[in-house]
Amino acid sequence: MTDDNLTEQQKLHKKKMQKQKEKVDASIAAAKIERGVAILLTGNGKGKTSSAMGMALRAIGYGQKVGIIQFIKGAQNSGEIDYLTEHCPSVDIKRMGTGFTWNTQDKEADIKASEDTWAHAAAMLADERYDLVILDELTYMLGYKYLDKSTVIEAIKQRPREQSVVVTGRGGGSELRDAMDTVSEVKDIFHAYKSGIKARKGVDY
Ligand code: ATP
Ligand code: MG
Repeated sequence: MTDDNLTEQQKLHKKKMQKQKEKVDASIAAAKIERGVAILLTGNGKGKTSSAMGMALRAIGYGQKVGIIQFIKGAQNSGEIDYLTEHCPSVDIKRMGTGFTWNTQDKEADIKASEDTWAHAAAMLADERYDLVILDELTYMLGYKYLDKSTVIEAIKQRPREQSVVVTGRGGGSELRDAMDTVSEVKDIFHAYKSGIKARKGVDY
């Protein structure tokens, strides 16, 4: 359609969109650095772990190598972990495998479990075969001081250049945040749980 056939309103819209496109194109052109990124998904709202698992699926879709470490595991199952374990054998998954704090009520055992789990994370962060490493609920290990913060931050910073890492969990602290390239906070507006609705298979776990 030539511009002659457009109404004034359509012309105005087209001009606005052209300007918008120029802006977007310019900002895309300005981003030139190619390397893996460190992402923190934090905040009190629902959606941190599920977002990280969405990225795992993205990476898997391109044949990339994914490692997943879960630092908190209660009795609860997880549909995505079950699926990946069964159908995606190339994905390496390590779950802490103990209940945590309020379940075990044994601080020494929790620290031991955290450190054992961290050893797997540290190995992945030092291994350039991994394109994406997910450290789910890692922030709590730092909050409880079960893991040494500077050791964790250093391992994230020193990882292979092409490797991306996703950390999830509430809090995490400013030093962890400063080591990240992307930080998103999921805000809790309200959650079904507060209306008495039970955690739902396929949605919450
Ligand atoms: P999800 O795994 O659904 O992405 P999340 O990782 O953001 O959630 P977590 O703090 O890890 O949140 O909590 C995991 C579980 O707690 C999920 O079953 C989730 O639905 C539920 N949950 C998350 N946020 C809230 C909230 N604000 N109130 C109550 N339950 C929540
Ligand atoms: Mg989570």
